[in-house]
Amino acid sequence: MTAPIAIIGTGIAGLSAAQVLHAAGHEVRLFEKSRGSGGRMASKRSDVGALDLGAQYFTARDRRFVEVVQQWQARGWVAEWSPSLYHFSNGQLGASPDEQVRWVGNPRMSAITRALLGALPVQFSCRITEVFRGERHWNLQDAEGQTHGPFSQVVIATPSPQASALLAAAPKLAGAAASVAMEPTWAVALAFASPLDTKVDACFVQDSPLDWLTRNRSKPGRDNAPDTWVLHASSSWSKQHLDMSKEAVLEELHGAFAELIGCALPAPVFSLAHRWLYARPASAHQWGALADADLGLYACGDWCLSGRVEGAWLSGQEVARKLLQHQQ
Ligand SMILES: Cc1cc2nc3c(=O)[nH]c(=O)nc-3n(C[C@H](O)[C@H](O)[C@H](O)COP(=O)(O)OP(=O)(O)OC[C@H]3O[C@@H](n4cnc5c(N)ncnc54)[C@H](O)[C@@H]3O)c2cc1C
Repeated sequence: MTAPIAIIGTGIAGLSAAQVLHAAGHEVRLFEKSRGSGGRMASKRSDVGALDLGAQYFTARDRRFVEVVQQWQARGWVAEWSPSLYHFSNGQLGASPDEQVRWVGNPRMSAITRALLGALPVQFSCRITEVFRGERHWNLQDAEGQTHGPFSQVVIATPSPQASALLAAAPKLAGAAASVAMEPTWAVALAFASPLDTKVDACFVQDSPLDWLTRNRSKPGRDNAPDTWVLHASSSWSKQHLDMSKEAVLEELHGAFAELIGCALPAPVFSLAHRWLYARPASAHQWGALADADLGLYACGDWCLSGRVEGAWLSGQEVARKLLQHQQ
């Protein structure tokens, strides 16, 4: 009997790969350091409902991704989001409508990865620290000192710095992963007891510590009360303030929001700050996925392609294709 395939990471890339491999008749086992799936598409539970703190929406351009998003829509996992979109630059707030089709998980971003995971076997709260070769198979070591295995192949579906560490047995792949730096993002959520008096649902921001803000209730399937907003700081501001306390980040970004939103801002009834250390790759690549098929080690993720949800999903498809191709 063939040993199962290990997949490290249950973001959209890992789950995209898992779906293909499972459908091809392979046994897959997933490992995830967090308590739930989704990675940067996860939604955080809070006193004011689920909050999409990472990816805010996604677009679909590649024909394969367009098709799968349509299937997700038919199943109710995603819905189209048409915000009243604004732009802020040079101290001016202005309406900025466009033709872009934007998709969101329904009723929260994490609905997509949760549905993709389905009943696949997964171990949560399990941070893998090492991928090492036994006599004929691969094994994984976790942060608690436990060993998992044996596995026929290992797919590493984590951000590039974490992938690089886990790819030590394949130095070429480790080097490629290490060459992709990832930039941080500070995210803040603020909730107001009564709705803010503004038409803005979402805004691209320039010349400010912020680069994006969203009104949660403008997305389909979200609760209407209280009025919750998610703010993202720019990469450069986040880099400069990487080690700032959460309290200070909240104060600074709340202040930046007050300056641009153009309406009275009452004291929030809820606030939260979250630091994404590895939010987005600093550069885009056309690798698709990394593979040492003879060894049986593979890596995928947004950093192998576009640095977005679509790129991550496509990278998961590509890693599975490479793995299956090698077995023929
Ligand atoms: C603030 C922010 C805003 C964004 N906005 C957008 C947007 O508007 N549109 C868009 O398309 N994209 C956006 N993105 C990017 C998008 O979220 C990512 O491209 C996509 O979700 C990446 O998926 P992934 O599966 O490659 O990686 P991830 O989602 O990071 O998944 C990797 C998983 O691996 C797990 N993991 C890591 N190390 C280990 C380990 N050692 N052991 C076990 N598990 C491990 C992690 O916990 C995580 O669950 C945004 C991201 C952020 C952070």
